[in-house]
Amino acid sequence: MNLDILTMGPLLVEIIRTEKGLPLGESGYFAGPFPSGDTPIFIDAAAKMGRKCGFVGVVGDDDFGRCATERLSHDGVDISFVRTAPGKSTAVTFVAYFHDGSRKFLYHVRDAAAGELNPEDIDPFYLEGLKWFHITGFSLSGSSSTKAAFEKALDLLPKTTKVSFDPNIRPEQLSTDEVRALCGRAISRADLILPSANEATMFTGAKDEETGCLQWRDMGKTVVRKRGSEGCRIYDSDGVTDIPTFEVEEIDPTGAGDAFSAALVSMLLENLTIREAAQFASAVGAMSVRRVGPMEGIPTRDEVEAFISKNQQTIEVQS
Ligand code: ATP
Ligand code: MG
Repeated sequence: MNLDILTMGPLLVEIIRTEKGLPLGESGYFAGPFPSGDTPIFIDAAAKMGRKCGFVGVVGDDDFGRCATERLSHDGVDISFVRTAPGKSTAVTFVAYFHDGSRKFLYHVRDAAAGELNPEDIDPFYLEGLKWFHITGFSLSGSSSTKAAFEKALDLLPKTTKVSFDPNIRPEQLSTDEVRALCGRAISRADLILPSANEATMFTGAKDEETGCLQWRDMGKTVVRKRGSEGCRIYDSDGVTDIPTFEVEEIDPTGAGDAFSAALVSMLLENLTIREAAQFASAVGAMSVRRVGPMEGIPTRDEVEAFISKNQQTIEVQS
């Protein structure tokens, strides 16, 4: 098939509290459905950057499933391996935002159509000639058959295929220990690791994020730690470099990390250096937080380029 980028996992819709600070257990208003899921956001953004992208996933035969699938297809993702599971509903997540910047998610994923993803969904033909495969902790924890599907994909993956891993731990979904146990193989196969918040500490057991990221770097990985409005930090054989981001008004942060990671990988596939790719990806991450809904703010390639030329930035090398 010769895809540039492939990923898989729960394809879902997100329903968002319209009022900040209102817990999910209290009655109130929601907005949505918005197409979502960490790997779907990633692949949607990569397709918008111009890469040849495919997605493997399962939805229900319902309006939410069509909403999510049609968005991927509209934005240029190949959906020939997105399947409909009879008798199952499309996965849904609900999210509430709080005044301190925290978020709370409520998931209907494992028992939904998304949880039906299994090794039979992996067609060896789809992996032939693949340049890049993306894995996340959230997608691996979708269900035991989903994990088995990832195992099969890793077994069949050409040796030349690069792999990225984003921990994307959602504590509401699984405990850290469970996620760690799930992700060992993905981490050892990964060329690029994309943690945020305290994920490096949780995975490596290191005393702090910096040590955790350096530990991965010393295992031969390139690490790009996402730090929201503070930008990102790169750890690789050339040292540690901070890449500042752009100043924007943050309306909805969900999905910024996935859009950022997709733009980073897309630019690496265009042979940019990791530092150049991270500058470009920062623009995509920043632009994506300006709209309500995890995919709604993802810009087109032309929009990113116009944004970057209007808001030039400098790189500060830390060491
Ligand atoms: P999520 O898991 O919610 O998708 P994340 O925590 O993995 O997100 P973030 O650090 O939030 O990832 O975002 C990725 C990148 O996008 C940041 O490193 C930064 O470059 C850019 N970015 C994110 N939020 C902002 C913001 N408010 N202002 C400017 N840039 C931002
Ligand atoms: Mg993340």
